[in-house]
Amino acid sequence: ATKWEHMELHDLPIRDDLRGRTPYGAPQIDVPVRLNTNENPYPPSKALVDDLAEEVRREAAGLNRYPDREADALRAELAGHLGHGLGAGQVWAANGSNEVLQQILQAFGGYGRTALGFEPSYSMHPIITTGTSTEWISGAREDDFSLDPAKAAAAVEEHRPDIVFLTSPNNPTGTALPLGTITRVLEAARGMVVVDEAYFEFAREGTPSALSLLPEHPRLIVTRTMSKAFAMAGTRVGYLAAHPAVIEALLLVRLPYHLSTLTQAAARVALRHRAELLGTVDDLRRERDATVSWLRARGLTVADSDANFVLFGRFPERRAVWEGLLARGVLIREVGPPEWLRVSIGTGEEMAAFRAAMEGVL
Ligand code: PMP
Repeated sequence: ATKWEHMELHDLPIRDDLRGRTPYGAPQIDVPVRLNTNENPYPPSKALVDDLAEEVRREAAGLNRYPDREADALRAELAGHLGHGLGAGQVWAANGSNEVLQQILQAFGGYGRTALGFEPSYSMHPIITTGTSTEWISGAREDDFSLDPAKAAAAVEEHRPDIVFLTSPNNPTGTALPLGTITRVLEAARGMVVVDEAYFEFAREGTPSALSLLPEHPRLIVTRTMSKAFAMAGTRVGYLAAHPAVIEALLLVRLPYHLSTLTQAAARVALRHRAELLGTVDDLRRERDATVSWLRARGLTVADSDANFVLFGRFPERRAVWEGLLARGVLIREVGPPEWLRVSIGTGEEMAAFRAAMEGVL
């Protein structure tokens, strides 16, 4: 025991605007069925693991040196993966799309500036916003979680935010946005517009990506991640596509050598195996649609989903349902508007366990 044993957070001279805040906190609980953080349930194949081990061995010999600071090779390969005629100069990568978003806020937000998002949406958008001393403005979605294009444009015109967040498909509701809505917001916005497409690969057939709007909209930023469809959450790689000038802005705030040699190598190996990794998406979509139907057949309310999770309800005591599932070895997420719960889509076996646990709880 030291004499400082009883010191607490509020005794420290932390920033006034951080006092009373709670950190991001999806519980990490060791249970048999983990359906709470929208990970891809399929682990990498032996071929990928072997390839990665080989690559790490090769890179390990040079770890006395700093990594490729601009991650040129990885960015070129990510650009090739995205298509739409993009090149390395229009792509940027960092440690998860969370870091990409933080760099955007550092460059375009900050003290005296504002960011607007339409809630319910991804909880890290306001956390990263306020963490960079940017003011958060909460816009609203409709009762069915869609975004009314006219109302969204009006909110942007009223508040004139420096940054607008559009999440498509949206977390935690699963709602994708039509391009027309994104275009309306782009036309109304004076600042940067970030379309967070973390779950884009899971969208239903024919859903267009905001990437197609980049040539006409120099202030548009589209973010993606290797954490979801790519099944590489542990690697921590997120990326974005935008005008090259936007990437020049991000270079001003990024830490030098932010993306480790091993991270860059792992991401490049994953890209080489992308047919296998993205090959899980069809199964997950099927499992998602089956989950939506199953929950609806039980009389529950379920939001349409274009993602690898489903928001369902409504439970006046959602905590009890969440706990009942946990007691049966199934961890889902207590998130989103009151009375709703979110389940990530797992393997067929995991979803069978979820259904069995739900039968028990209901
Ligand atoms: N955007 C959205 C909408 C998300 O749901 C998540 C992960 N939950 C992220 C970004 C960040 O993911 P990562 O940092 O792993 O890329």
